[in-house]
Amino acid sequence: MNVPAPLTNLKIQYTKIFINNEWHDSVSGKKFPVINPATEEKICDVEEGDKEDVNKAVKAARQAFQIGSPWRTMDASERGRLLNKLADLVERDRQLLATMESMNAGKIFANAYTMDLGSSVNVLRYYASWADKIQGRTIPIDGKFFSYTRHEPVGVCGQIIPWNFPLIMLMWKIGPAVCCGNTVIIKPAEQTPLTALHVASLIKEAGFPPGVVNIVPGYGPTAGAAISSHMDVDKVAFTGSTEVGMLIKEAAGKSNLKRVSLELGGKSPCIVFADADLDNAVEFAHQGVFFHQGQCCTAASRLFVEESIYNEFVQRSVERAKKYTLGNPLNPGVQQGPQIDKEQYTKILDLIESGKKEGAKLECGGGSWGDKGYFIQPTVFSNVTDDMRIAKEEIFGPVQQIMKFKTIDEVIKRANNTHYGLSGAVFTKDLDKALTVSSVLQSGTVWVNCYGGGSCQAPFGGFKMSGNGREMGEYALHEYIEVKTVTVKISEKNS
Ligand code: ADP
Repeated sequence: MNVPAPLTNLKIQYTKIFINNEWHDSVSGKKFPVINPATEEKICDVEEGDKEDVNKAVKAARQAFQIGSPWRTMDASERGRLLNKLADLVERDRQLLATMESMNAGKIFANAYTMDLGSSVNVLRYYASWADKIQGRTIPIDGKFFSYTRHEPVGVCGQIIPWNFPLIMLMWKIGPAVCCGNTVIIKPAEQTPLTALHVASLIKEAGFPPGVVNIVPGYGPTAGAAISSHMDVDKVAFTGSTEVGMLIKEAAGKSNLKRVSLELGGKSPCIVFADADLDNAVEFAHQGVFFHQGQCCTAASRLFVEESIYNEFVQRSVERAKKYTLGNPLNPGVQQGPQIDKEQYTKILDLIESGKKEGAKLECGGGSWGDKGYFIQPTVFSNVTDDMRIAKEEIFGPVQQIMKFKTIDEVIKRANNTHYGLSGAVFTKDLDKALTVSSVLQSGTVWVNCYGGGSCQAPFGGFKMSGNGREMGEYALHEYIEVKTVTVKISEKNS
C-alpha cells in the first residue's frame, strides 16, 4: 500500500462533547489537556465530561431509542448503509485520522495509516453487511402454538475504550452495537480522545439520526463510572485493565444489573518448541511483544523456549530487538514511538528494575531513551523464572521475557498458571504438538506458528480474568441483542 506523508498542517477541529449530533461544552465548564507523548507538549484542551454530561448523553440515546423513533423504525438495511457511509468518510479522512492517531497515541504513522485505519474501515464494512442479516428463528414448540424468536437491540449501550488502539476500539464498539440497532454513549480514554471526536463529526455527516452515537470524553473514575453505574444504561462494554473491569462489573451489579462485556488484560504465553522454524518463531515472538511499544493486551509477554534451542533463541531475539530506530512516530524511518504517558512509562521502568533485582539477565535495553517523550529502550530479559514480577504482571511496554522449558506437560502447566487467558501461541512443525497445546491453552485465541493476526471476521475475547464475552465476528452480535420468544396460539398445527 502506498503510504502518504503525515499531514503537516493538522488542525484539531473537534474538542467538545458530542451529544444528539451537536457539540456541547461540559456542564462543569472544565476541560482537560491532551498530550503528544513523543514531545510531552499539549496538543489542545478537550471538554471534560462528567456525570452530568453522561446523563445528558444517556437521555439523548434513550430518546433516539424510543419506540417509533426514526432509528427504531429504520430498515435494517439502512443501518447497514449508514455504517458503510461512515466507512467511506473514514477512508476519505484517512490521512488526517492517521496523523492524529500517530500524534496523540504515539503510533508509527505508517502503521496507523495501514493497520489502524485499514482495520477500522474493515470493521465498519463487516458490521454494515450484518445489519440486515440478524434474524431469529421459528421454533417447533409443543402444542398448538406458533413460536418464533426476535433478535432485538439491547437498548442504550455505554462503551468505555482504552488508549492503545483508540480508533480500532471505537469501531469495535460502534460497529456491532449500531448494526444491531442499539444507541450508544462512548467514552474514549482520557489520553486519546481526538480521533473519536473527529469520527463524531463523520457520524453526523453520514446522516445517523441524532442521539444514536454520543461521544463523551472524560476521565475513568468520573465519566466512566457514571456510565457503568447509570440506571438507564442497558449494557456496558469495556476494554481496558482487569482492575477497572472488576469495578465495571461491580458497578453494573450495584446499579441495574446492566449487561456487561469485558475485554481485559493478558499475560500471554508464546511457546516455542525446538523443532519450530526458528526464523519465523523469533520474528513472530518479537513482533508479538514489541508491536506498538508493547502496548497490546495480547502481548506475547511470557515467551517459553525449549531448552535445546534456548541460547540461540535468546541471541537471535536480542539481535532483533537491537535493530530499532526510536523517535517521533510521525517521522519516516522511525520504528518505535513513545509509551502513552508518564504513568505507563514509570510503571514499565519500575517493572524493568524489578526484573534486574529479582535476578533475570538483562540482555539489552533496560532503561529510558532520549531527553523528552516517554521512550523506553527495547528490552530483553533471559533467565526469567515464573515467580518474577516481569513474568506475572502485565508490563504493557517493549520488554521481552524469555523463559526455558523442558517438556510439553511442564510448559502447558506453566503457560496456564495465570489468572489471565486472553491469547497464546505455539510454534512447532509437529501437528500433534500444535493441536495438543492449542486445545489445552486456556485462552480465547491461540495462534499456531504465527502471532497477533486478528481479523474482524474472527471472534476475540478472553478466558478467566481476561474478560467476558466476545468481540468481532458473528459472536459479537450476541453481546448486542436480546432474544425474545414470541408464542402465538393457533387453531391447528401441521408439521
Ligand atoms: P489503563 O490502565 O491501560 O489506562 P484503564 O483500564 O485504566 O486502562 O482504562 C481504560 C478505560 O477505562 C479508559 O477509558 C479509562 O478512562 C476508563 N476507566 C478508568 N477507570 C474507570 C472506572 N473506575 N470506571 C469506568 N471507567 C474507567
